[in-house]
Amino acid sequence: MNSDQIPKTEDEFKAKLTPEEYKVLREKGTEMPFSGTYVHETKTGMYLCKACGNPLFSSDAKFDSGTGWPSFDQALPGAVREIPDTTMGMVRTEIVCARCGSHLGHVFNDGPTETGKRYCMNSVCLDLNTQ
Ligand SMILES: [Zn+2]
Repeated sequence: MNSDQIPKTEDEFKAKLTPEEYKVLREKGTEMPFSGTYVHETKTGMYLCKACGNPLFSSDAKFDSGTGWPSFDQALPGAVREIPDTTMGMVRTEIVCARCGSHLGHVFNDGPTETGKRYCMNSVCLDLNTQ
């Protein structure tokens, strides 16, 4: 499968993703804090959806939240969808890829920059394209 093609069935997602990626992206898992590749990443580029290649965040929007997950203060226009999430006894806003519907993380309204947003993402859901 070409890396830009959108997987449609769960079998196609499974074929494209590692078991850990599949667990987070398709089963709404959460990676361990400070375990992800991109927590302290400082290279410039575009963060793409690991499942479908959709550009999600610019490295310009990345900041160090201290949470152990890569964090961004804004997503690219139309790149993600927000879904109310009341699991785990909390009211949160889930972020999914607008293109393939895969889980990426959550957004919170306590961001330190002027957008006021903190997109708390899982590294395994992202693929940094530095070209
Ligand atoms: Zn996607």
